[in-house]
Amino acid sequence: MLPYTLVIEHAAQVLTLAGGPTARPLAGTNLHDWTIIEQGYVACQGDKIVAVGHMADLDLAHITPETRLLDASGCVVMPGLVECHTHLVFGGNRAHEFERKLRGESYLDILASGGGILSTVRATRAATEMELLENALHHLEGFRRYGITTLEAKSGYGLDRDTELRLVRVARAAGRQQPVRVVPTFLGAHVVPPEFKEAGPRAYVDFILREVLSDLKGEAAFVDIFCEQGAFPLEVARYFLEQAHKMGFSLKIHAEQLHDLGGCEMAAALGATSIDHCDYLTPAAAARIAQQTQGQTVAVLLPLVPLFLRQEKYAPAREFINNGLPVALSTDFNPGSCPSKNLWLALSVACLKMGFTPKEAVAAATLNAAWAIGHAADCGSLEPGKRADLLVLNVGSVAEIPYWLGENPVRDVVIAGERV
Ligand SMILES: [Zn+2]
Repeated sequence: MLPYTLVIEHAAQVLTLAGGPTARPLAGTNLHDWTIIEQGYVACQGDKIVAVGHMADLDLAHITPETRLLDASGCVVMPGLVECHTHLVFGGNRAHEFERKLRGESYLDILASGGGILSTVRATRAATEMELLENALHHLEGFRRYGITTLEAKSGYGLDRDTELRLVRVARAAGRQQPVRVVPTFLGAHVVPPEFKEAGPRAYVDFILREVLSDLKGEAAFVDIFCEQGAFPLEVARYFLEQAHKMGFSLKIHAEQLHDLGGCEMAAALGATSIDHCDYLTPAAAARIAQQTQGQTVAVLLPLVPLFLRQEKYAPAREFINNGLPVALSTDFNPGSCPSKNLWLALSVACLKMGFTPKEAVAAATLNAAWAIGHAADCGSLEPGKRADLLVLNVGSVAEIPYWLGENPVRDVVIAGERV
């Protein structure tokens, strides 16, 4: 029998995330009812988890002088965080607009005046590929320190063919150059670029479908669109996602962030893997989506965004959960509406403002986040066969995780069986 290469032992709690259904994301009471092992261990061989259990059941026959032992006495051990919605690659920052927001201007006012996303587009187009890569690597290093082991990265600050392709290329290169796994998504339909202001949203998505998507096969699994006033109307978003789906892409949408336009239900009906933001999604629509998709479409909730935009409207997650809609949590890291990589803070705000319990918040940022980017088969829980992506936290129980508001509880990060 093969020896264990790494054993994390004596954990006060092992948050396995195991014990629920395996064919779909956790929903309803399953979001809370997964297994915690007190006084537990996790054993790895190479890059895979091979055993998880109580210390009393640890099989010493697998432990050799070569086995690395990591003592987690008094600590929580849990899966690496899965960050399922970021805008990782961009040029510049928008600190100047932060001051405008503090003086009372709204997100859509700033966008309409040529700021917002468009100001990052100008900075991103002006940056070299090397500058963008260095920025992305800098941010990934920050995410890794917060215990993120897999991260989705959207394009969307190029809005022309060459820059959008460059952003996807940079995300993939950044994934290869450091340990955090990067999953690229194409968000060329973020807003309508100035070049298409006259021609309009439909002409712009036709351009993307014709000139860009064919070059992205195998480079990005997901195609995303921002359905919102000032971005893309519902019917254009539907047309775009239908066409992208026909080309073989999996679907995501930014919808119901600032208004209820029906984007979430539309995308879910097309089989979207995730519907993101959902602050204005109603509990009744959430129940319909849960039923129509048989619990396969994940609502990705982004609690730091309303916080940072000074909006009091947060997604009614408690009702979503009660109505059976699977939910995930993410930062939405981006230079405009959430310049934070602190996913732990997002978990705390989700508990405080959206009605999550600590266990639900942890599930939403691990296993359900993995579902939201099509990676539930290999990460998001501590189960034999999954990638050995896990964290040792400087807290003794799951309830402490969202309790220490704004802190980073991470003591050790293990990615693919290696401490990083
Ligand atoms: Zn976003």
